[in-house]
Amino acid sequence: MALRKERPLKTFEYFAPDSLPEALNLLQERGAEGRALAGGTDLVVQVKEGGKIPTPSYLVSLRRLPELRGINFSERDGLRIGATVTMTEAAESAPIRERYRALADGAEIVGSIQTMNMATIGGNVCNAAPSADTAPPLLTYEAVAVIAGPKGERDVPIEEFWLGPNQTVLQPGELLRELRLPTPPANTGGIYVRQTPRKQMDIAVVGVAVLLTLGQGDRIERARIALAAVAPTPIRARKAEAALEGKAASEALFAEAAETATTEASPIGDVRGSAEFRRHLVRVTTERCLREAAQRARAS
Ligand SMILES: Cc1cc2nc3c(=O)[nH]c(=O)nc-3n(C[C@H](O)[C@H](O)[C@H](O)COP(=O)(O)OP(=O)(O)OC[C@H]3O[C@@H](n4cnc5c(N)ncnc54)[C@H](O)[C@@H]3O)c2cc1C
Repeated sequence: MALRKERPLKTFEYFAPDSLPEALNLLQERGAEGRALAGGTDLVVQVKEGGKIPTPSYLVSLRRLPELRGINFSERDGLRIGATVTMTEAAESAPIRERYRALADGAEIVGSIQTMNMATIGGNVCNAAPSADTAPPLLTYEAVAVIAGPKGERDVPIEEFWLGPNQTVLQPGELLRELRLPTPPANTGGIYVRQTPRKQMDIAVVGVAVLLTLGQGDRIERARIALAAVAPTPIRARKAEAALEGKAASEALFAEAAETATTEASPIGDVRGSAEFRRHLVRVTTERCLREAAQRARAS
């Protein structure tokens, strides 16, 4: 059996600043060859394997930056999640579990317990994998990314944040500081479900998040559907959403909307599943999520 030859790791400098201005200064002074380091569960693997990203000449750890920490919720302002909040912290957070359940669903399935303790929400978003498990929930809650850079801060709707696999709107020297999620209306239920070949420690072949707000007589006031791993970036299924809004929730309506969602996906086929199989999974998973989200909305 041929042994895999270890690639020698290129040396790089490592910085661990104590504040956001210090981190931004470092990125500004040292230039575009560097990278932010959060939990390192994507970055360290990518640097070791090589090829996907150029080896950074320096890393700036975000772990000590107080400005990127914390989960805060108020009815008026909604949810604010610091970029370095870990998957474990998000999955265990009371406001997230109670009011942003689809996001808790996504956070609590990222890798193993050890992965969840290291992996951050900001890292999941900035790595920009089409299969990222917090991405569809963030799309359904219409999160806004707060980006800090040398010229101050700017807000970017999460739907505009991803440009392609591993590509985002972040410019050199910019950092994701936090995510802001508006308060969902009353009688809203959300869910995220992913399909994987293995039960654990696998990435989504298809991921679906659904958020439904129900009114009088089970009328769907608002519908949000987002899909992972079926396009170059996580996407909203807007035609399927439109097919639901204003109508009474029913099995037939859910089946019709799920069928519509398959037309909005543009999956590729790979070793983990053909394009046709992925479309099939979009349909069955969306239908299941619609049913579950409606139940959660009724129970809320
Ligand atoms: C064993 C294992 C299992 C995994 N399972 C899953 C899974 O089930 N689902 C899933 O979605 N992912 C999974 N992943 C991928 C990874 O854990 C997640 O994407 C994680 O959230 C990345 O966060 P991080 O803090 O480790 O990011 P890092 O690796 O530190 O960073 C990732 C990228 O984002 C950039 N970055 C990080 N934070 C910021 C910021 N605030 N501002 C600007 N840029 C930033 C970094 O420079 C880097 O390019 C798995 C990884 C491993 C190793």
